[in-house]
Amino acid sequence: MATLPSLIRTQAFIAGEWCAAGSVFAVTSPASGDVLAEVADCGPEDAVRAIEAAARAFISWRALPAQNRSALLLVWASLIEAATEELAHLLTAEQGKPLAEARTEIKGGIESIRWSAAEACRADGDVIQPFKTGTRVIVQREPVGVVAAITPWNFPVGMITRKVAPALAAGCTVVLKPAEDTPLCALALAGLAEQAGLPAGILNVVPCRGESAPAVGEVLTTHEKVRKITFTGSTGVGKILMRQAAGTVKRVSLELGGNAPFIVFASADLEAAVDGVVASKFRNAGQTCVCANRILVENGIHDAFVERLINKARALELGPLINEEGIAKVEEHVQDAVSKGARLHCGGQRRAGTLYYEPTVLTGMTRDMRLFCEETFGPVAGVFGFDDEAQAVAMANDTPYGLAAYIYTRDLGQALRVPAALESGMVGVNEPILANAAIPFGGVKESGLGREGGREGFSAFLETKYVLVGGL
Ligand code: ADP
Repeated sequence: MATLPSLIRTQAFIAGEWCAAGSVFAVTSPASGDVLAEVADCGPEDAVRAIEAAARAFISWRALPAQNRSALLLVWASLIEAATEELAHLLTAEQGKPLAEARTEIKGGIESIRWSAAEACRADGDVIQPFKTGTRVIVQREPVGVVAAITPWNFPVGMITRKVAPALAAGCTVVLKPAEDTPLCALALAGLAEQAGLPAGILNVVPCRGESAPAVGEVLTTHEKVRKITFTGSTGVGKILMRQAAGTVKRVSLELGGNAPFIVFASADLEAAVDGVVASKFRNAGQTCVCANRILVENGIHDAFVERLINKARALELGPLINEEGIAKVEEHVQDAVSKGARLHCGGQRRAGTLYYEPTVLTGMTRDMRLFCEETFGPVAGVFGFDDEAQAVAMANDTPYGLAAYIYTRDLGQALRVPAALESGMVGVNEPILANAAIPFGGVKESGLGREGGREGFSAFLETKYVLVGGL
């Protein structure tokens, strides 16, 4: 880490001050296992201080004209852009994805900030036709208040910018609890925000070890001064947070687990479909919530598709998985599939003594396998055959999740019919990568509530207030 001194921060960031917590926890490199840094392990009392700081800062931040908030966010974006190389190295060091993917993630994060900064200036309301003589009917949009953001490790920059940027742009202030595996990018972003001149207290960061997360999370979801929870992570934790937030009726945005179907119909451009699966399945070593999880291929083209996929998968260079727990789940899914009759074509093992798992292709997959029911979150392409469109749609929807889905087809009717039939918040038709600052990202069913990004994502940080002025 000798090359990364300027961006590394290891203390919590509360009320514009870098502060120690009662203890520290180690952040390790998933590639080497080396300790990268010891980071402040915040507890409930630090979370309370951060909330109080955010509540104090909210008064003046919300009062600042939107154009001024926007201008500050644009300075932050430019500083992140200037630091892209250093930040990309830090991201790769703590999260494991290849540098090129880290740079792409940071670019997307900068776009989120710039998009939100522009949108801040358009948070206009309405003046409605009066329903009574001598009145003015005004609908204005106001920031929700203090926002608590809890983020996962798979996109240590992107998951933060997509929440923090619209929140700040809307005039909210934020307490961020980053994932225990990847707090360094979060703290680096806060350092750059400080440098950009963002006022003290509008962005607070309280990192903590995994064991401290439930106690810190409880404060964030129950404190009366927090008005909104925005969370990305597992469905199980999302349900806990939603229950806890109910006590004070906080606004809740949840981006939870997925189990994306990737349907390849016989009419598809086969090369494009294979490239699409590779991009969707193996990006970030399969550790994204929108990764293809179940690859459904029409039986007529199954063998030709699989042959091409195996050749491409064998040539891939992937980063390590995030931790031992992550790789154990991948190993279990592969063993479970093979024990129930799946055929292993390539991969199927880890590089001894490391967190690297070989790109894996399985065929002969069936619905009783764990990979059908649960998100694998690793580089395992499990291929299921199907006979017709109705069967493919039924298989795709046979899950409590509904985040992303993909179809590859050149049949125009199918390209319009199938997305409508899929129980999913997002559908890629002949396109494997969906995320962008401008689009409403999110899921249905147990994949979550609300949308992030785009106009909808921005509006999620605003309340509507109706004012009736009489006696005019
Ligand atoms: P993953 O399986 O991707 O690690 P998690 O849902 O466990 O997903 O973690 C996502 C985020 O939620 C992390 O920041 C983690 O520390 C946090 N987290 C985990 N459990 C809780 C909890 N009980 N309360 C609040 N935050 C939690």
